[in-house]
Amino acid sequence: MLAGGQSLIPLMKLRFANPQHLVDLNFVPRSSYIRKKDDALHFGALTRHAEIEKSSAAAKIPIVHDCAAGIADVQVRNRGTIGGSLAEADPSGDWATVLLSLATELRCLGPNGERTLTLEAFIKDAYTTALSHDELVSEVVVKIPAKGSAGAYIAFKRAAPVYPTASAAVQLSMEGDTCTEAAILLGCVGLTPIRVREAESVLQGKSIDDRAIESAAEAARAAADPQPDMRGSAEYKRAAVGGLGKRAINIARRRARGEKVEVSHIYA
Ligand SMILES: Cc1cc2nc3c(=O)[nH]c(=O)nc-3n(C[C@H](O)[C@H](O)[C@H](O)COP(=O)(O)OP(=O)(O)OC[C@H]3O[C@@H](n4cnc5c(N)ncnc54)[C@H](O)[C@@H]3O)c2cc1C
Repeated sequence: MLAGGQSLIPLMKLRFANPQHLVDLNFVPRSSYIRKKDDALHFGALTRHAEIEKSSAAAKIPIVHDCAAGIADVQVRNRGTIGGSLAEADPSGDWATVLLSLATELRCLGPNGERTLTLEAFIKDAYTTALSHDELVSEVVVKIPAKGSAGAYIAFKRAAPVYPTASAAVQLSMEGDTCTEAAILLGCVGLTPIRVREAESVLQGKSIDDRAIESAAEAARAAADPQPDMRGSAEYKRAAVGGLGKRAINIARRRARGEKVEVSHIYA
């Protein structure tokens, strides 16, 4: 199945994928949309990263905008789709890391009808999902966080048109100065995004001060399981992810208080 082609076509060019038939999903009508329904945003699987970046509905969840606006460059964002990105389950992809910090479900469609999976159940391993060979992702449903809850996503990248070296997604719910709920996810430092429960418990039920943020970053560094590659050594990525976690916690906390804070990835 061909969506934006931004992962599949390079794999075919390198002869890592050699399909006998390609089914172009771009001809399926009504497969690209962003709709608010009740307390959730519904994204058609073929919705492009660029459409999400520009959407005022999607901007209501700031961490979703952070993600869409920071993927590669304009060319990739104009073609790549949210459904294709999740179906590819690339360990370096941005969407899974971000959407796991929110309550996200995927509608999957096959000859036996539709089923709904949580994103946690959908992502099985690197490049491996719960989709069967005759199923496709038709819709991504993201619950809109309640008032007082906000997030931030920051990646460290060598340049715009490449995947991040490391990334951190943080979603916090605040009541006054107290953090009532936290979700902290790390990207590109494991075979799948890593949820850091230890870091979350450091923040939950407490007011977030510099010491708590440092302890959460330490827990993130300990939970990371990076592989050395052309983007850096394991130690380099481990150090980077701790720093990204700190920045993301700070921004999520400010946004949860109602502050408007712009986020940009960090470029080496
Ligand atoms: C130069 C470059 C830089 C990039 N940098 C980043 C980056 O920084 N961050 C990032 O997250 N991504 C990055 N990408 C990847 C980009 O986001 C892709 O768009 C994405 O990974 C795949 O989405 P796609 O729509 O292009 O899918 P395709 O390439 O068309 O398909 C990918 C796989 O998913 C399957 N598939 C597609 N749609 C569905 C569906 N609806 N249901 C079931 N299976 C489906 C296909 O059969 C295929 O196996 C980059 C790509 C390039 C070329």
